[in-house]
Amino acid sequence: MKCPFCSVDNTRVIDSRPADDGDSIRRRRQCDACGRRFTTYEKVETIPLIVIKKDKNRETYDRRKIEAGVIKSCHKRPVSAEAVTKCIDDIENEIFNLEVKEVDSTQIGEIVMDKIKDLDQVAYVRFASVYREFKDVNTFMDELTKLLSQ
Ligand SMILES: [Zn+2]
Repeated sequence: MKCPFCSVDNTRVIDSRPADDGDSIRRRRQCDACGRRFTTYEKVETIPLIVIKKDKNRETYDRRKIEAGVIKSCHKRPVSAEAVTKCIDDIENEIFNLEVKEVDSTQIGEIVMDKIKDLDQVAYVRFASVYREFKDVNTFMDELTKLLSQ
C-alpha cells in the first residue's frame, strides 16, 4: 500500500485490531521511506442487495436509511443507543438471511416494524404511521387498537 504522505509503496503493518464497529479491522501502518504512520480500515466486501421500491425502481440497500428511520421513531423515547443498534442489527440479519439479491421495500418495512415493536411501542406506532403512509385516521387507529389489545 502506498504511503499517503510520500507515495512510496513501502509500508508495513505495525498493529491490527478490530475496529469499534466490529465489522472491520483497523491497521496501523508505517512507511519505511518517510517513517510516518497512518491508519487503514479493512472491511469484508458485502454483496450488494438491491431494494425494489414501490415505484419498481431499484436502489442499493443502505443500512443508514433504516438506522435513520429507527432513530427518528425513537426520538425522546427511553431507548438506549445500544438497544437501537441491536434492533438494526436484528433487522439487517433478517434481511440478509432472506438470501435474495433483490428485496421489496415493503418486505423490509415489515421486518423493521416487527423488530421495532419489541423495541418501543411508541416508536413502533410512529414508524408504522410513516411507513404505511396512512392516508386516514381509521387505518392509523386500527393499528393502534391492534397494538393496545396485545
Ligand atoms: Zn512515506
